Parts: sequence; structure tokens; C-alpha cells
Amino acid sequence: MSGWQVAGQTKVVSLLQRSLEGGNLAHAYLFVGPPHVGKMTLALNLAQALNCEAAEPPCGECASCQKIASARHADVQIIGLTTEGNSTEAKPQAEISIDQIRQLQHSSSLPPFEGRYKVFIIDGAEFLSNEAANCLLKTLEEPVDRVVFILLTANERLLPATVISRCQRLELPPLPTAEIAAALNSRWGVEPPKAELLARLSHGCPGWAFSASLDDGLLQQRTERMNRLLDIISADYEERFTYAAQLVAQFNQSREAVQEILDLWLDYWRDLMLVKAGCHNDITNVDLEATLIKMADDYSLAQIKTFVNSVQAAKGQLRQNANPRLVLEVLMLSIPRKERRSGEKPAAQFSVKHG
Ligand SMILES: [Zn+2]
Repeated sequence: MSGWQVAGQTKVVSLLQRSLEGGNLAHAYLFVGPPHVGKMTLALNLAQALNCEAAEPPCGECASCQKIASARHADVQIIGLTTEGNSTEAKPQAEISIDQIRQLQHSSSLPPFEGRYKVFIIDGAEFLSNEAANCLLKTLEEPVDRVVFILLTANERLLPATVISRCQRLELPPLPTAEIAAALNSRWGVEPPKAELLARLSHGCPGWAFSASLDDGLLQQRTERMNRLLDIISADYEERFTYAAQLVAQFNQSREAVQEILDLWLDYWRDLMLVKAGCHNDITNVDLEATLIKMADDYSLAQIKTFVNSVQAAKGQLRQNANPRLVLEVLMLSIPRKERRSGEKPAAQFSVKHG
């Protein structure tokens, strides 16, 4: 199975391999799994396997496999949310439109151009508009030979049950940390301590870890965000509100960036909980172990748990379109006070001077 590039996922890969060999592929697949777990890599691998010219597909090396890997194959199309317009103000589309699905329908009615199978990959299928999903449903209900649809989603609950029922559903679970660390080392030559850190930060989704091993900027961004977070924990209210205002401004640019920052908060406070419970080996932020151990003394387990719940609540409220300023300011007020203050600077006073 050397041509399968997706990391891990041996169960799903062997199932697809058996279907290919037995000639009993589904007309439509739904790959379900968290972001960066490998859904797109697997979909491209399947498209390769269907069009590969070698004896044991996917070989990854024939002209067909190479074209698919570099998105130049005429019979393999990917649709998803795209950025509209060309100004610097361009915003990503909110939905996959019915026009995109109509184009795809038209294309699927034509025979393959250069390969054996036409493959349509719908990335972020949860973003299909209602109209688009209904339109797609009609296509899925009337399967065409040599046409395969692959829907990818991180949030299957947002997909209509009728669409799901027309697809063979395959779940891609997060990978064990050790597996990702080993892959980072063998594929990209990442040294063990860094491989371990990246693997843990990726939470079982190797895509992020692979990107971060090639682009130092990602790890640096995490370090900067984490340093700011550590500053804020011991900052006074004024500084915390300044931080909240910065997050609100960021939220208006990119909701996802703020969710990522809150995920860092969650990871950090969960790590505190683990350290408190003596489970040092399970922490995510392995490079901050000394800081975590020191800080764990400052708080009770109950305080840490309460704050973890507060961060989770804030994330949920932001997803449900609550007022971001209110949510983030409340979160800043929920940061627990240190239990023990041994000659450090006095605790922040609750003197909010702001409108
Ligand atoms: Zn090939």
C-alpha cells in the first residue's frame, strides 16, 4: 500500500483497497473527521487509485497519479469555499453555492476526458447551501458509471440526513501522538523532541504537524500567542480588557483565528489540570512543562476546572453568534485568582474604567 500517502487510517485504507480490488466501489463517499486529519489526502489518493496506470494502484508515480497530486488532472475536480473577488477586502464565501453544484452536475454528465473515472471532491460539505445540497442529492440519487463523489466534512451534523444516506460513510479518527511523531521523523526528518511537540500540538491531526514541520512560522505563531496568554494570566484587569478588545478586532477579521487562540487557552488549562493530577506525561505543551508545574501550585483543581468550563462556554457562545466583546470580557474576568500569593505583586483590583 505504498501509494497511499495518508498517515495512519489503515482501517479505512484497507477497506477502500478491498473495494477497488473487488470492483465494488460506492458511487459516493462521505469522509468524516476533524480538520487536518487527512480527509483530502485520502480523497486524492482514492482519485489516484481510480485512475492510476500501474499494476498496483495508487502508485503515486505514473503520469495520472502525478497530475492528480498537483491538481492538474482534467477528471478530478475539487470544489469548496473559495475566496471571492480580488480586492484585499475579499472575504471567503459563506456557503457552497447551487451554481457550483450545477457546474459539477454538468461536468459529471460528460465522459471522463483523460482518465477512467471522474472524481468530484466536495471539501467542507457542511457548507453546502440548502439549495446546493438538494441539487446534489438529485445527482447522488441517479448514480452514473465511472463517476465518484467524495464529500469531506468535519461536522456531519450540519449535513442533511438525505445526503448522508446516499453516501458510504467512512470515519477518519485522530491518530495516536506516537504515530504522528514517528511519521514526522521518517517523512520529514524532524528531530524527536520537536516531532513530539508538534505531534502533541496537532491533537492527532497530522496535517497541521506536517505543515508546521515545513513552515516554522506556524510554531512561532503558537509561541507568540502562548506568551501573550501567559502574560494575561497575571495581568491586571485593564490589560486583560485591552487583550479582549484585540481579540474582538481579530474576531471580526477571522472567527477561526480566535477559536484557535481559545483552543490554546483550553490546552494550557487542561495541562494545568493534568499536572495537578500528577499526569505530567499526558500534557500537550511539553515545552512548557516547567512553567506549568510552577503555575499549578498557584491554583486549586476546582479553580482550574471552572476556568476550563468558562473557556469552553466562551467558544460555544462565539459559535452561536453571541456578542464577542461581552463573551471575551466575561472570560477575562473569569481567570482565577492565585490562591497563594507569596510576596508577588498584589492581585489585580476590580476597577473597570471603560465604557
Ligand atoms: Zn499511478
